[in-house]
Amino acid sequence: MKQPAPDYDLVIAGAGLTGLSLACWLLDLATQRRQPLPRILMLEPRSHYSNDRTWCFWDRQPQPFRHCIRQRWPRWAVQQGQQRQQQQGDHAPYAMLPAEDLYREALARINREPAITLKQGVTVQQLLEQPQQVQVVTSDGHFSSHAVIDTRPPAREAMAEEQGLWQVFTGLELALPDHGFEADCALLMDFQPGVGDTRFVYVLPLGPDHLLVEWTAFQPHLSAPALSADFDHWLNIHLGTGYRVLRQEQGALPMMPLRPRSATAPVSRRIVTAGTAAGWLRPATGYLFATCQRGARALAEQVLDAHRSGVWELPGWQPRSALLNWMDRVFLRALQRHPEQAPQWFLRLFGGTSPERLSRFLSDQPGLLDILAIMTALPPWPFLQSALSRPHPRLPATGSPKP
Ligand SMILES: Cc1cc2nc3c(=O)[nH]c(=O)nc-3n(C[C@H](O)[C@H](O)[C@H](O)COP(=O)(O)OP(=O)(O)OC[C@H]3O[C@@H](n4cnc5c(N)ncnc54)[C@H](O)[C@@H]3O)c2cc1C
Repeated sequence: MKQPAPDYDLVIAGAGLTGLSLACWLLDLATQRRQPLPRILMLEPRSHYSNDRTWCFWDRQPQPFRHCIRQRWPRWAVQQGQQRQQQQGDHAPYAMLPAEDLYREALARINREPAITLKQGVTVQQLLEQPQQVQVVTSDGHFSSHAVIDTRPPAREAMAEEQGLWQVFTGLELALPDHGFEADCALLMDFQPGVGDTRFVYVLPLGPDHLLVEWTAFQPHLSAPALSADFDHWLNIHLGTGYRVLRQEQGALPMMPLRPRSATAPVSRRIVTAGTAAGWLRPATGYLFATCQRGARALAEQVLDAHRSGVWELPGWQPRSALLNWMDRVFLRALQRHPEQAPQWFLRLFGGTSPERLSRFLSDQPGLLDILAIMTALPPWPFLQSALSRPHPRLPATGSPKP
C-alpha cells in the first residue's frame, strides 16, 4: 500500500548554531540556485534565546552571518609569564560574533520564509525510520518527513571521555575604563600555574573600556564551571577592582572523539546527524563555528539536490580527514599525560608556524604542508610516545559535580 505524503520534506531537530546555520544556508543557496525551498519544520525546546555564548573563529570564508561579526583582531598571541608569541594574519583575522546577533538574524529570516516553520518549546523524543519517511515523535505530537537532520547535542555515553579532556570555562564581559590591553590583539592563552590540568586566561579587548575575559581549564573530569578563587586573584592583580560585570557566560566543551558507531548499527540516509553530535566540534581545540558553516553548507546542497530529484537520501558530511583525527588523538593523549608541558608546546606552535598555516590548521582546513609545519614545530618525543601509547581507562572523579 502506498504511504501518504509526509507532513514535511525535512525536519531539523534543534535550532541552535547548526540548525539555524543550516536554515540560513538553505535560504541563501535556494536563492542562488533559483530553486524552491522544500517544506521544512524546525523543532527547538527553547522558547526564548538569550545571549548565551560568543563565537570566535578565524574569518576565512563567506557564510550567512559574516555581516554580524562584531569585532576582528588582526593579531593574536599566546604567553606564559615573560614568554610571548604573537602572529599577525591580516588575510584571516580572528573574529567574534555574539550569539544574540546570530540568533536575531537567523530567526528573522526564518520567520519571513513561509516554507520554514519553527516550533519553539518542542522537544524531539524519538526518530523512527520507515521505508519512505521518518516519523518524528515530539512533546507536541508526531510529524512525518522525507528526511531528518538531527542537530541535538550528543549523549554523554557517545563521548570517548577516556580519550580526551573537558574544556571548562567561565567568561566575564567587563566594563573597565582604560583597561590597557592592546586593541588589535586577541590574547588567546595567558597560561597560569596549575597542577593536573592546563589553565589559561583568554582576553578579547572589545573597546578601550570594554573586554571579555575567560578563565579556562583543560581538565580530565567534568565539573561545573565556576568563578574560581584563582580567577578572582587574576582579575584583582591585572584589572584591579574598578570593573563592572556586564554579562557572564560559561561552558564545558568535550575535547574528545565520539565513540565509533557499532558495526552492526544500520546506516540511515534519511536521518543524518549534524553539529557537535556528528563530531563537528574539533576535539583538540573546542572550536566548531567555521567547520559548522562548511558542514551546514554541504548538507544544504544535499537537501536541495534531494528536493530537486525527489530521492531523499542524504550522504551526510565528514568534518575532517582521518590524518587530522589521528593527530588530534595523539595531541590529546600528550595533553593528558603532560599537562604541565602544554604552555611550551603552544608557544612553540605559535612561534614556529606562519599565521596562514596555523589558522588553516585550527579551522580544520590544513594542506599537507601545513600539517608538516605543525608537526615540525612541536617537540617530537612526547608526541611520539603518545602516538605509540594506548589511552588508559580513566578512574571516576571523586566528588566532582556532574552537570
Ligand atoms: C559558552 C560557549 C562558548 C563557545 N564559544 C565558541 C567559540 O568561541 N568558537 C567556537 O567555534 N565554538 C564555541 N563554542 C562551541 C560550539 O560552537 C557551540 O557549543 C555551538 O553552539 C554548538 O553548536 P551545535 O549546533 O552543535 O549545538 P547547539 O548550538 O547547542 O544546538 C543544539 C540545539 O539542540 C536543541 N536540543 C536539545 N535537545 C533537543 C531535543 N530533544 N529536541 C530538539 N532540540 C533539542 C538545543 O536546545 C539547541 O538549540 C562555545 C560553546 C559555549 C557553550
